[in-house]
Amino acid sequence: MENDKDYKNAMVVVAHPDDAEYGCSGSVAEWCIKGWDVVYTLCTDGSKGSDDPNMTTSKLTEIRYAEQIEAGKILGLKEVEFLGYSDAFLEPSLELRKDIVRMIRKHKPDILVCQSPYRSLNTSYAAGHPDHLAAGEASMSAVYPSSRDRLTYPDLLEEGLLPHKVRELWVMTSGPEADYVNEITEEGMSRAKNALQAHSSQVSEESILRMTQWKKEAGEPHGYSYAERFKKILLK
Ligand SMILES: [Zn+2]
Repeated sequence: MENDKDYKNAMVVVAHPDDAEYGCSGSVAEWCIKGWDVVYTLCTDGSKGSDDPNMTTSKLTEIRYAEQIEAGKILGLKEVEFLGYSDAFLEPSLELRKDIVRMIRKHKPDILVCQSPYRSLNTSYAAGHPDHLAAGEASMSAVYPSSRDRLTYPDLLEEGLLPHKVRELWVMTSGPEADYVNEITEEGMSRAKNALQAHSSQVSEESILRMTQWKKEAGEPHGYSYAERFKKILLK
């Protein structure tokens, strides 16, 4: 259990505002309840998630940033960082990798949570959004080796951003590769539901019920009321 270790910092890197609220907000809430510093890094601006003909990308970016900041307040986050890449066009580029390294070196997380870089044909199709896959691949490459190696980005050293070793990588997944189930308490689940609700341009009552049901199903086999599943990778 990570509770037995001296961890106190975590970072979540996701493609879109609301992704973390579906995938790992219960775990985030538990860490915040324990007093950890948790930071979100949002890769894209979420500017394409609307079918309203009167909506514009700049208006939607403003709305989605505000919703994510509100969700972060509900969870108890230390900070939300926005990288500002365009929604729907995210690639696992060297530029994105470096931007994530910058965030890792700035906030020094013990645990980094990211999306899966793999498309699964057996789980929710939405998990395979190309932006999710790109954010997952760039995050994993940023954790190892780029945030660790001092010679990779001499310019970041000049900015005072020293190398940092992430100790655990938690990849959000409900697939067969998941090997860790993190228990969520009633209080954590309550914060997670309210945080998802804050994304009001995107979610409905049905979305909240669906998310609650997923976390219930993840916990049931282990005797937990709620849980979230991850593939946990320990880094030396
Ligand atoms: Zn998404």
